[in-house]
Amino acid sequence: MDNSTTLLLGLDGLAVEKVERLVDGTRRVHLTTADESARACPSCGVFTVHVKGFVQTRPRDLPCGERRLQRVWHKRRWYCTGPACPRRTFTEQVRQVPAGARITGRLRDAAGRRVRDAGSTVVQAARDLGLPWPTVMDAFRTAGQEVTAAALEPVEALGIDETRRGRMQWRQNPETGRWEPVADRWHTGFVDAFGIQGLLGQAGGRAPPDVLVWPATTPLQRRRQIRYAAIDMSPGYRAAIRTGLPHATVVVGHFHVVQLANKMINTVRRRTTAALRGRRGRARDPEWKARRRLLPGREDLTDAQFSTMWNALTDAKAIGTTLLTAWTARERLRDQLACARTDADRHRIGHLHWKLLTWCADSGIPEVRTLVRTIDRWWTEIAAFIAAGHSNARSEGINRVIKLVARAAHGFRNPASQRLRTRCVTTRRARGHPHPA
Ligand SMILES: [Zn+2]
Repeated sequence: MDNSTTLLLGLDGLAVEKVERLVDGTRRVHLTTADESARACPSCGVFTVHVKGFVQTRPRDLPCGERRLQRVWHKRRWYCTGPACPRRTFTEQVRQVPAGARITGRLRDAAGRRVRDAGSTVVQAARDLGLPWPTVMDAFRTAGQEVTAAALEPVEALGIDETRRGRMQWRQNPETGRWEPVADRWHTGFVDAFGIQGLLGQAGGRAPPDVLVWPATTPLQRRRQIRYAAIDMSPGYRAAIRTGLPHATVVVGHFHVVQLANKMINTVRRRTTAALRGRRGRARDPEWKARRRLLPGREDLTDAQFSTMWNALTDAKAIGTTLLTAWTARERLRDQLACARTDADRHRIGHLHWKLLTWCADSGIPEVRTLVRTIDRWWTEIAAFIAAGHSNARSEGINRVIKLVARAAHGFRNPASQRLRTRCVTTRRARGHPHPA
C-alpha cells in the first residue's frame, strides 16, 4: 500500500497497510504504527527494541464515505529495556489514539464541537457519529471548557430574565384532595443585553438572593462597567439590582412591556367570552379566530391580515369592541416605546404618554387600567429604557435560544449541562460561528 492511502486517511502516527472489503460491504483498513516515539516506554522514556508480540485494537474514527470504514490497528507490545524501570511491558500509543482510548482524538473533538458549535444535541451527535451518549457528553464538556474559560469583553448592559426549568410538577394533597405544585423551578439568566457575548451566567431561582449570586461572583471591575440593567417588571429583580449593582440604571425593555400588554389582551378575551357567552372560547367564535392576529404589532400584519382580524372582531360585537379597545391601548403603548429608537423630544414622549393614559382611563376595562397602573409604577425604568435608546431584542433572542435548547434536548436533568449548552449556543456568534438557520 502506497503513501497516498495513508495521506487520505490522515491519522497522524498511523500508516495504512492495506484496505479490504468485507462481504457486507464494510471496508476494513489495516493500520500499523508510523511513529518512532511509540517505541518509548511511557514510564521511563527509554526507546526499546524488544518486541513482545502484536495486539489488535479497533479505534473508532470519523465517518468516511457512505459505507462503514473499520480501522484495525496492529500495534506492537514491547518489553521495556530501561534499567530499573518498574514497567516490564507496554503497548504502543500515538497522539490520536492514546493508551486505553477506543476512539481517535479527532473523533472526540468533532463530537464535542458538533454539540458546542453546530447546535446539535448530545443525542443527535451520538447517533450521527456512532458513539455512546456519555462519550459525547464528556467530549462536549471538554470542548465547552474553552468557552467558559475565554476572557469576556466589558458588558455595558446586563439583561436579567427568568426562564422556567422544565414543567411544573403537581402532587395531590392526601388530606385536602387538592393538587398543589411541588416543584416550580426557575432559572435567572444574565445576558449581555446589548452586546454579542450571549449568556454570561445563570443562577437557580429568581428571588433577590438568587439574583445576587451573579454580581457577588463577578469581579468589581467588571461590575463597574455595567451601566444598565435590563429587567422584566419584577420588583424582586429591581431590588436585587439596587443592592448588587447600585451604580447601574435599571431599565425595563420594550419586549417585557409588550409581553405584559399581550397577556392583558388574552385575559380580556377570556374574561369577556366567559361573561358574554357563558363558556370558554370555541374555534368558531370570531374573537377566537382573531386571537393570534391580536398579538403581533400592527406593522407586522399585512393589510389583509389586519382587515380579517378587524372584521372578525366587528362580528363579535360587544366582545370585539372591548378587545379592539384593549388592542388600541397596547398599540398606543407601543407607539410610545417606539420613541426609543428615534430622537424624540420630551414633548412628543409626554404627549404620547398622555394619549396612552387617557385612552386607558376612558376604556372602562379593568385589565387595561391595571396595566396602565403597572406601567406607571415602572415609568422611571421604562423612560430610562427609552432614553438609553437600546433595544433588548438580544435578551429576547437569547431567551428564545434557552428555550429551544431545552426543547431540543427534551429537558435537562442536570442544570450545569443546561447552562453550558446555552452558554455555548449563545456565544457562537462571538466565537465566529454563525447561528444555525
Ligand atoms: Zn520503562
